[in-house]
Amino acid sequence: MSKIRRVLPMLVAAVAALTLACAAPPVERADLILTNALVRTMAEARPRAEAVAIAGGRILYVGDAREALRRRGGATRIVDLDGRMVLPAFQDSHVHLISGGVGLAQCDLTGLPTKAEVLARVRDYAASHRDAAWITGGGWDLPLFPQANPRKEDLDAVVPDRPVALDSADGHSSWVNSKALALAGITRDTVDPAGGRIERDPKTGVPSGTLRESAAGLVEKLVPDLGPEDYIKGLRAGQARANRLGITSIIEANADPDLLDAYAALDRGGELTLRVLASLHVDPDKGVSEVQRISGLRQKYAGQRLKATSAKIFVDGVMEPHTAALLAPYVDRPGDAGTPLLEPEAFDELARALDLAGFQIHVHAIGDRAIRMALDAFAAAGRANGFRDLRHHIAHLELIDPADIPRFARLGVAANFQPLWAYADSYITDLTLPILGPARSRWLYPIGSVARTGARIVGGSDWPVSSMNPLEAIQVAVTRRAPDAPPGEAWIPEERVDLETMLRAYTVNGAWLSHEETSRGTLEAGQAADLIVLDRDLFTIPAWEIGRVKVLWTLLEGRAVFRDPSFRD
Ligand SMILES: [Zn+2]
Repeated sequence: MSKIRRVLPMLVAAVAALTLACAAPPVERADLILTNALVRTMAEARPRAEAVAIAGGRILYVGDAREALRRRGGATRIVDLDGRMVLPAFQDSHVHLISGGVGLAQCDLTGLPTKAEVLARVRDYAASHRDAAWITGGGWDLPLFPQANPRKEDLDAVVPDRPVALDSADGHSSWVNSKALALAGITRDTVDPAGGRIERDPKTGVPSGTLRESAAGLVEKLVPDLGPEDYIKGLRAGQARANRLGITSIIEANADPDLLDAYAALDRGGELTLRVLASLHVDPDKGVSEVQRISGLRQKYAGQRLKATSAKIFVDGVMEPHTAALLAPYVDRPGDAGTPLLEPEAFDELARALDLAGFQIHVHAIGDRAIRMALDAFAAAGRANGFRDLRHHIAHLELIDPADIPRFARLGVAANFQPLWAYADSYITDLTLPILGPARSRWLYPIGSVARTGARIVGGSDWPVSSMNPLEAIQVAVTRRAPDAPPGEAWIPEERVDLETMLRAYTVNGAWLSHEETSRGTLEAGQAADLIVLDRDLFTIPAWEIGRVKVLWTLLEGRAVFRDPSFRD
């Protein structure tokens, strides 16, 4: 072959490329261009960039500033971010957004460090709400009381005349006063309801003021119902907090029609500033008959930013009051390993029916037995129905038997951790380690082990159980230390994970869990412009400062849903 014949085609190609470049159609004009930014796209193809161009709520271009600025038109806003970090907006994959928001207006005991402060708050609240027939609210921490068992007498001393019912921070216990017990007719002779326990004085057998799980319902059913306006008010408060923390997508962890009506009302009015995937509450006692009922809800509540395509099943309770279902007995209660809220066969049958009906299944499982039951149920559903890509997930995952760790990746089940719980606070040291013993305690919140198997990790807050701030949770997953702790020894250091893994959990993996990874969750051309600006670069600060980084600006489909007053856009 002569030289010329080899060079010619190259020349032709070069000319063609040049012609193409000159003849390229004019690029679409951006509404907004962010420049001079540290963009982490969470996309494999181009993990970092310096500019983002946005039009019509979607990302037009991500890359270098010169190319982005070619999208500039007469009406384009240019925002110079001065080197600040940009990320896809966060997804909280397990949150009780409306009940949390409603709780903000009730007697809120969240984070109070002593019993005395809790009682003072209850007294003040009662005094400033003289018209309230009931004093309701919650957020008290279990470790403030011996055996996580607060007494009615303490409440009687501050509110003697009206009934009081206050949920624990984890929502699995209720603390009531004598008036509430009397109204509910709960006496020494009352038997524990199925799936619940009335705590009693060990000497007299008289109910002592704490009701676990379903027993709380004996009092709760007497509390006057909230109205639609209360739920909408709660939703507005909850979504404002979420947007402030950089969250634009959530999985509502336990939805009933009251909550769905509130979401739908704001969605119809174009006021919902979150994408909401609602997990529909399934009553385990009703079994497969629930599938038809919630299929109706799924159809009814399909909106713009709202969908209800997920089903929620509670398999057990929580660790501290021994209501989590374990594979082996609690150390301090020989023969008692906790009882699952439904039988394995009933669970398998329910999971199979939900899977067949196309529901994503969202399971609450804390103990190693409950987690194994969930994995078994998903495996059985897959064998019966074939693989249906529904992206089932298990939330909480407090104690996983090591034999079950590889099964998440194998079964395609997402691990929905609440990473803020993964450090040795008093829930762990005072109430959990003593009842599990050291060998099993090694496997508490094994985020690192699950991540190393290649399973998909997603993150949720469980707010109002704990703080909604994803950055605090990310920090704890990275450090395995308290969010306000200085650097030091990690709790079960093998289970730490890196920052990248956790950012993926709250962005791209969240979008995947919601079946929306092709429309959001990464910063790439064509994706929705759901993004946040942070005041510092998470990758260059010490890990113990991650939780203190501030979200300055939150965009949902290119529109600001939160702006920090210090940020001038
Ligand atoms: Zn929850």
